[in-house]
Amino acid sequence: MKYTTLDGYLRKRRFNRTPEPPPKVTKVPGNRFVVQEHHARRLHWDFRLELDGVLKSWAVPKGPPEEPGIRRLAVEVEDHPVDYITFEGAIPKGEYGAGTVRIWDKGKFKLKRRTKDIYEFTLKGKRLIGKYALVRFKERNWLMLKSKQET
Ligand code: MN
Repeated sequence: MKYTTLDGYLRKRRFNRTPEPPPKVTKVPGNRFVVQEHHARRLHWDFRLELDGVLKSWAVPKGPPEEPGIRRLAVEVEDHPVDYITFEGAIPKGEYGAGTVRIWDKGKFKLKRRTKDIYEFTLKGKRLIGKYALVRFKERNWLMLKSKQET
């Protein structure tokens, strides 16, 4: 079996121990996003965009900005399977990412621009609404920012 971009996801987990969904790349295009509040060793929020048949994912230590003009560090993490978008629950002690996960926000996004280092999109969630960008500044480190201009 070959998991095109989910090798990293697969390698980190034991699916006989974690309730997380197994790796599976989908061919169905989508436009959903999710933010999962993850009470791991360090609390963080995982921001995920449904793209390329997977969830492109970033861990945001302070949470995604809800107000315009604020930027937050977002660390790129491994792609997750699309099925992860509904995942909530407890990752057992001793497993990768051990701790509870719950959905903090979800909704639809519209991609406006995408390069290797920049994603621009609008979000339509309950908490995250408006124009956002992710800008890479160093390797896996990005800034997530909410633009002042609403759309
Ligand atoms: Mn996480």
